[in-house]
Amino acid sequence: MQQNTLTVGLGDRAYDIVIGPDLIDRAGEALDPIVANRHVIIISDKNVAKLHLARLKAGFKPFARKLDHFVIMAGEASKSMSVLSRLLDDILSLGIDRSVLIVAFGGGVIGDLAGFAAASLLRGVDLVQIPTSLLAQVDSSVGGKTGVNAASGKNLIGAFYQPKAVLADTSLLVSLPERELRAGYAEVVKYGLLGDAMFFTWLEDNSSAVLALEPDAIMHTISRSCEAKARIVEVDEREAGTRALLNLGHTFAHAFEAEAGFNGSLLHGEAVAAGMALAFDLSVDLGVCAADHAARCKAHLHAVGLPSSQSDLAIGNVPACRLIEHMKHDKKIRNGKLHFILVRAVGDAFVCGDVPSHKVKNLLERDQNVF
Ligand code: NAD
Repeated sequence: MQQNTLTVGLGDRAYDIVIGPDLIDRAGEALDPIVANRHVIIISDKNVAKLHLARLKAGFKPFARKLDHFVIMAGEASKSMSVLSRLLDDILSLGIDRSVLIVAFGGGVIGDLAGFAAASLLRGVDLVQIPTSLLAQVDSSVGGKTGVNAASGKNLIGAFYQPKAVLADTSLLVSLPERELRAGYAEVVKYGLLGDAMFFTWLEDNSSAVLALEPDAIMHTISRSCEAKARIVEVDEREAGTRALLNLGHTFAHAFEAEAGFNGSLLHGEAVAAGMALAFDLSVDLGVCAADHAARCKAHLHAVGLPSSQSDLAIGNVPACRLIEHMKHDKKIRNGKLHFILVRAVGDAFVCGDVPSHKVKNLLERDQNVF
């Protein structure tokens, strides 16, 4: 069977990312010795549980001492303090001890929520990520960022907490709704745009095969994305520098998401796609990137059916000053200055800690009038 194993080299907290089809059917074996003879608690959401939980439980059964599960409502709204609090109480009511193993089985919402639950329970219990969306398989399950949203912004409460392993079962993507698949693809494009021009060219040539989930194309896509993320996390686990490059497009994206509310009308990957196009435009406006690179970025996003401007988003036209207000509540603000990831070219991103807000305002106002 085709399978690929990568390692995130974090010293005594190093872990493997195993990528391949039908991994959940033999999850216990694939995760041996992590699972052996332990109390395993799977956290999933309603959509994923309905389709795949029975298979995962069967995969764990021969190896786990005890198996429990909790199923949360699907959607971004579940990444909240109230859902987290209920989940923690439910888990504690099982009478757990520190040998328990938490398994996050779902998209990025479950990964972030269950990951933070594992980080908080008894001051930290072991965690395994089994991501089921493309976004989670290429991004959120790797690197240890966990957390929930706060009333004043996205991901503002959380912890860095690395899993013991990541199991990315590519066959699960078959049931992922097409819009979600496309939104996850935005995070794949991000790796090409921020630091891997060759991968971006490969995506330009192979996006149809990737989105059709052709086995070789999807394996290559997930492996290359995880490889990129692993190398960045290894040098900058807690985002003191290089890791911020992974936020390409995210300062804009988080403002769009805050405006849309967390009701599913705007998907994270869709917001990131528009945000990356704007990051290229901003770089052109600031004179650090040639216009043809921005055009290439937008052409690819458009070709795969992703938003490439604010006017493509379901939120419609929002006053630029309101979006800038949202940006000021983002984690990426430091000492009152707007931080952006800018680009010199496709595959060459850098952090800029001092972007004048009038440049951002002008760009957003211009972008709203793109048809
Ligand atoms: P999600 O978890 O809401 O999943 C998207 C939808 O797809 C949900 O309805 C889910 O039930 C469904 N789904 C998932 N897998 C499925 C499958 N195999 N078959 C059928 N349906 C399936 O959203 P997402 O896009 O996976 O993740 C977005 C979240 O990830 C956001 O909260 C974002 O902030 C977070 N994120 C975190 C990091 C990180 O480093 N921790 C990085 C990027 C994004």
